[in-house]
Amino acid sequence: MADVYTQLAARALAGEAPSPAEARRILDGEDTELLPLLHAAYQPREKHFGRKVMVQMLNNVQNGLCSEDCGYCSQSKDSTAEIRKYPMKTSDEILAEAERAARAGASRYCMVLSGRGPTLKRTHELAQVIRRVKEAHPIEVCLSVGLIEAEHAKILAEAGLDRLNHNLNTSESHYGEICGTHTYADRIATLKTAFAAGLESCSGLIIGMGETSDDVVEVAFRLRELQVPSIPVNFLIPIDGNAMQNDGSLTPERCLRALCTMRLVNPSAEIRVAAGREGHLRGLEALALWPANSLFVEGYLTTKGGAVNETYRMIRDAGFEVEGNPLTDAEGFSEPQETQFRIAGSDGDILKPEIRQAP
Ligand code: SF4
Repeated sequence: MADVYTQLAARALAGEAPSPAEARRILDGEDTELLPLLHAAYQPREKHFGRKVMVQMLNNVQNGLCSEDCGYCSQSKDSTAEIRKYPMKTSDEILAEAERAARAGASRYCMVLSGRGPTLKRTHELAQVIRRVKEAHPIEVCLSVGLIEAEHAKILAEAGLDRLNHNLNTSESHYGEICGTHTYADRIATLKTAFAAGLESCSGLIIGMGETSDDVVEVAFRLRELQVPSIPVNFLIPIDGNAMQNDGSLTPERCLRALCTMRLVNPSAEIRVAAGREGHLRGLEALALWPANSLFVEGYLTTKGGAVNETYRMIRDAGFEVEGNPLTDAEGFSEPQETQFRIAGSDGDILKPEIRQAP
């Protein structure tokens, strides 16, 4: 078996993917051992990204009020989750949040709008905001705005947008189980439209939605076929009121193996640990940095996530390095210096008083 990991790594270093059957074995083979697998996945990660970790911050620019029925999303028309719904934020608000992301050392600022897709008017408004952010900060700008057509893509590309995010989410055959208001073909068309306009694409998946291992492997290869350079791997966050709840499949090991699968099938892509890393990877969270080279801080669209300082500490403790920008050390966002022993959540005596009482 040792040779298998060596060969997987060697092929990934040469840009080759494993076969679908091998990818399936990476994901759920009973004889696959986690640590050698992580080491194999680390090698292409190290080749393309060294020990750097890209930190990204999301801004939910428009929340809720969506006409679509994606079962994993608390912004969907069918979700009864109690979220704060709001229309698109003002340019000044968005700009202030971009500054916060830049000062926190984020290398990318991701604006996310709920909804099926933008009107032309909204696309022009977004283009203006993108120009302002790019002028003000040394940060890459990404946008997630639903389905787009060629005209929208052209306007956004001319404004300087770096990447358009549009996740495939799952396999083609499973797509009907998670969404009924648009199709997989619509999603693929948006990615191809963005590519044709010269926009880099970012597209990933969500696992834990009742999919099979074959579905996960299929998405990994579809993303390779589409030459997607940035792949967020989300782990379903079960939110009360959403149609899709925990399917019981996500253990920390399954999450790590999914990240290894994505890395070994897409060796040079940015693999990003995205929503749900905190709750699903639990004590093994830092091991995600072996296959993945990027993560989000400060939460996701409608849920909280790891804080900047805690996340930076995890990255540094694991021997990796934040790929920051020159503003990283701005006030309020310095990396934690504390190295002394400390019990989280306890400032005082750790012995319970009753233990000291005489019998
Ligand atoms: S994922 Fe996007 S399109 Fe789907 S319900 Fe949520 S906001 Fe709407």
